[in-house]
Amino acid sequence: MTLPSLFLSHGAPTLPLSDTPARTFLTQFGATLERPKAILVVSAHWETAQPTVNAVERNETIHDFGGFPRALYDMRYPAPGSAAVAARVTELLGAAGIASKTDTKRGLDHGAWVPLLLMYPQADIPVLQLSVQPHLGPEHHLRVGRALAALRDEGVLIIGSGSFTHDLSEFRGHALNDPAPAWVNSFADWVHDALSAGKTADLLDYRRQAPYATKNHPTEEHLLPLYVALGAAGEGEQAERLHASSTYSVLRMDVYAFHERATIAAVA
Ligand code: ZN
Repeated sequence: MTLPSLFLSHGAPTLPLSDTPARTFLTQFGATLERPKAILVVSAHWETAQPTVNAVERNETIHDFGGFPRALYDMRYPAPGSAAVAARVTELLGAAGIASKTDTKRGLDHGAWVPLLLMYPQADIPVLQLSVQPHLGPEHHLRVGRALAALRDEGVLIIGSGSFTHDLSEFRGHALNDPAPAWVNSFADWVHDALSAGKTADLLDYRRQAPYATKNHPTEEHLLPLYVALGAAGEGEQAERLHASSTYSVLRMDVYAFHERATIAAVA
């Protein structure tokens, strides 16, 4: 089977506790996909000098945030890991000339377990995480995605988990369901149009070309997983927006799938 690659916006850590369209979407989304053999999550919340994949027997749940409700710290997502898929990730990256490392201890941060808790609440599918390298920018992450594209044919669901917009300086001043301002939506519209038209070169240059790019992403780590998902799509695959909403006004929660045109036609 060939699975799509996905980009998910994970939003605030409180997503599992908040009654939002994004939570409703993710809760229903997992069941619509062909069941993967394993899930590889590229999370904005794991930054390393070079790509690093975790290889553990069972994932610890990392509560990598502070000041949130107790119920969030009680949540666990004890999905198994997979040393075999981790080795395959290392092999594919190496074949593309990308040196990587393996971490045999690290579990899942909230960029991985928050959306997976909603999509696959049983936690019975092996999950691996891959880190991002913010200092290396979009092109590097596109290359990482391209290197890993073959995993989609091997039953591995590749998920880039970040945030479509992510200006946290504005986040705390807003209520959960406040609408997004124009400077958020105009950026999101630009990225959507570029993805839909397959304008990869423009997307790589988004910080200069997209409106309010540095305002929406003061740092890049929450957008870089999008480039891994885009790269993993390979040539000729189409971006499909599956969900669009915002939380706390400034966090767009958009979700994209990258898959074959034929698949989209069949769905439509
Ligand atoms: Zn985040």
